[in-house]
Amino acid sequence: MEFNMDYLMISGIQHFVFCPRQWALIHIEQIWKDNVKTFKGHKFHEKVDDPYVFEKRGERIISRSIPLISHELSLVGVSDCIEFYVRNDNLGVKIKGREGSYDVIPIEYKVGDIKDDESDISQLCVQAICLEEMFDTKIKKGYFYYGKLRRRVEVEFTEELRKNVKELAKKMKYYFDNGVTPKACYKKHCVSCSLYDICLPKLNRSYTKVKNYIDSYWISGS
Ligand code: SF4
Repeated sequence: MEFNMDYLMISGIQHFVFCPRQWALIHIEQIWKDNVKTFKGHKFHEKVDDPYVFEKRGERIISRSIPLISHELSLVGVSDCIEFYVRNDNLGVKIKGREGSYDVIPIEYKVGDIKDDESDISQLCVQAICLEEMFDTKIKKGYFYYGKLRRRVEVEFTEELRKNVKELAKKMKYYFDNGVTPKACYKKHCVSCSLYDICLPKLNRSYTKVKNYIDSYWISGS
């Protein structure tokens, strides 16, 4: 798979949705620190990401760790799992060395539970967009397997979701190309951020307050 070195990691989109600063610290400034949650996530994926698993179960072919790319979005990554479902017509994708035609369904494994924000959904939708570009097909839905729930959850790739993730990918590229790390903005989710001790969002908040105070002092004093 050939790609420009400026292509960004698909997995980054979930960080970007969670917090653009967190994404920039990791992907632009190359800072990373595991916490218990991220460590559990790595361990879970070690079990799932076996690049040599390629199995057939009935009408399904299951493939793991397929490299993904979108030239349109300048993104690259690796899928957890892709399932190819046999179609009765000839309108699906072809697989080298296999008979028939198939629908392509991306599956992403998550150690925890369904999230309140759209970070996971955005990541899965980007994977679908990559697969559409790679296989020249249309993918209507994908699935998450949540370790905590022990079941699959379907995600529909609506036009609105596609539009949103394309906007996010454009923003990420803009920040990356211009070396922009957004300023810290303390929110409730900061307490679960693995980069909290590096980011120090409250410090920035007090700095902002002091700065505002100084600014207002100079304005009122002038
Ligand atoms: S601590 Fe908060 S502002 Fe800083 S990177 Fe994490 S989520 Fe973003």
